Amino acid sequence: MKAVVYKGPYKMEVEQVEEPEIQEETDAIVKITSTSISGSDLRAYRGKTSVKPETILGHEAVGIVDSIGTAVQSIKEDDRVSIPANIACGFCFNCVRGYPNACLTTIKERAGAVYGCADFGQYQGCQTEYIRVPFADFNCLKLPGVPNDQWEDDFLLLSDAFPTGFYANELVQVQAGSTVAIFGAGTVGLMAAYCAILKGASEVYVIDNIEERLNKAKEIGAVPIDFSKQDPVEQIRNWRKSNVALQAAQRQDDFRMNGVMSAIDAVGYEAKDDRNPLNQNPNQIIENLIRVVNPTGKIGIVGFYSIFPQEDVDVKIKKK
Ligand SMILES: [Zn+2]
Repeated sequence: MKAVVYKGPYKMEVEQVEEPEIQEETDAIVKITSTSISGSDLRAYRGKTSVKPETILGHEAVGIVDSIGTAVQSIKEDDRVSIPANIACGFCFNCVRGYPNACLTTIKERAGAVYGCADFGQYQGCQTEYIRVPFADFNCLKLPGVPNDQWEDDFLLLSDAFPTGFYANELVQVQAGSTVAIFGAGTVGLMAAYCAILKGASEVYVIDNIEERLNKAKEIGAVPIDFSKQDPVEQIRNWRKSNVALQAAQRQDDFRMNGVMSAIDAVGYEAKDDRNPLNQNPNQIIENLIRVVNPTGKIGIVGFYSIFPQEDVDVKIKKK
């Protein structure tokens, strides 16, 4: 079968690899019909992770069950399934408490396994034709429809981006009437904004500096904030101050609550510096979260943070 294989920094190749086989009776082999490229894949591509050459990247996929082990109960051949990015057992201390992202069974070195991701277990990724799914009863989400129907692209988002955006809202307890600031308008940030609106938030701000992304945030119903034009925290405070109805509803001491109650980091350590977007500033989003959130508010981080060489921090983002 063909697969997208990592060969080293900035070098990927499509080549023939061996098809995966059932190794445990709890496994399934899934024929992938759609997959995508995550920000984590881009970190690997740039050589910023310890992913080894010959690894197949990718951890977002939807497909059709090709075969199952004898112990698999809940899915069968030809079922259409989503494959969540996290590989989890469903029965360990963390899984039973609702944290499959920190499964203790599927990786021995730490907590939490992911397909085709350095430091998250030795599992091949999804950017290929067939994939081995461990603990298939827990890691295959059965879906309606048929391959390449009108839901194919939407279902692909169920692997990672949509649930991560939803989970970000859970972390900061978004509910009806919430005020939410989301840093980053990549796929996860936009999904977080979409979920905040689904949950009934009354104000949703999305911060980025790429016009197309901000336009998409506006299309979803959020207030787009371009951090390259002015300090994004000040922009949010000013926007709230300029809202006549909001100000009229406030009591005399409420001016100290002119930030938001819920603030989400959907960027991580590869953040651009607000004042000089050509440079990276790994602390930028954390600083902004602290400044924008009100007393008693919540901050939630779904952006990726890692131990990385200091010289990477100073790497200037190449101009397109
Ligand atoms: Zn587990």
